Amino acid sequence: MHHLSRDVLKRNKVPDHRVFGVGFAVAGYLSREGKGLERAPYLGWPKFDLKSSLTKLFDMPVAIENVNRCIALAETRFGGLANVDNLVLIRSALGLGGAVMVDGELLRGEQNLGGDLGHVLAEPKGHICSCGKRGCLNTVASGWAVMMQMGITKQSYGTINQFRWHNAQLEKLLGDNTFVAEKAHKVLVEAGTALARHLMPSLQILNPETVCLTGPLGRHPSYANAFHQGLIELGFSAKITLATEAEIVTPSMASAYLALSNLVYSPNFSFDQEPDAIFNEKVVSF
Ligand SMILES: [Zn+2]
Repeated sequence: MHHLSRDVLKRNKVPDHRVFGVGFAVAGYLSREGKGLERAPYLGWPKFDLKSSLTKLFDMPVAIENVNRCIALAETRFGGLANVDNLVLIRSALGLGGAVMVDGELLRGEQNLGGDLGHVLAEPKGHICSCGKRGCLNTVASGWAVMMQMGITKQSYGTINQFRWHNAQLEKLLGDNTFVAEKAHKVLVEAGTALARHLMPSLQILNPETVCLTGPLGRHPSYANAFHQGLIELGFSAKITLATEAEIVTPSMASAYLALSNLVYSPNFSFDQEPDAIFNEKVVSF
């Protein structure tokens, strides 16, 4: 990781003295205090003190956050959803992740698991999820669920190699324009519709200003349109923001924002005042 960041800085001709901190968006669950990694089922990473390890590795201040929450924070601060205080964000990729903003603050909950909508119960007798529970929404509406339905995979992923293989297969499937894509269309529509159906009760409780669908699978028109249509048919009347229609913050942009937000800018800083300054600062981001 350290070598990788050195390469990025070298390629972009960034001198060491311009680097002031590290923003790290991780696809995993953080501890209650937000410093340690409790588990990262998508990556196969164990429980460890992530923040201290990164601080030692880079020898500079570090800010960490779950990737979906990081995107929700960045999106509502300077992205297409700037000034939205009540947001439900769904990031649909190989796994299904979520983040919720209530009155401008992240919903964290007692164990820092709040807003994890990808793992609400959808099918009590369904497949075992990557989180270890049975029948999560993740098992019926994620990229992995789509690949299960397509017969591309039969098992979940618990190691980084399995994760990479599944991710590569999903990328291939979503970029496919052949007859396989026609078969995939039906499966993607089912997954997008299932996402809308199972999310609806949570949306009624959370009452957001907008629900935002993003991520590589979330950008696929078949899936995104089915999700949109499904919510409309169920009577959802708030705004629906699709990454297929709007420019959405990426994980690396969000991690850069995290570092800037936690280590540099005050909560009162307005990105509207200096729009060019946001990414002209040099931050190592993942
Ligand atoms: Zn799960």
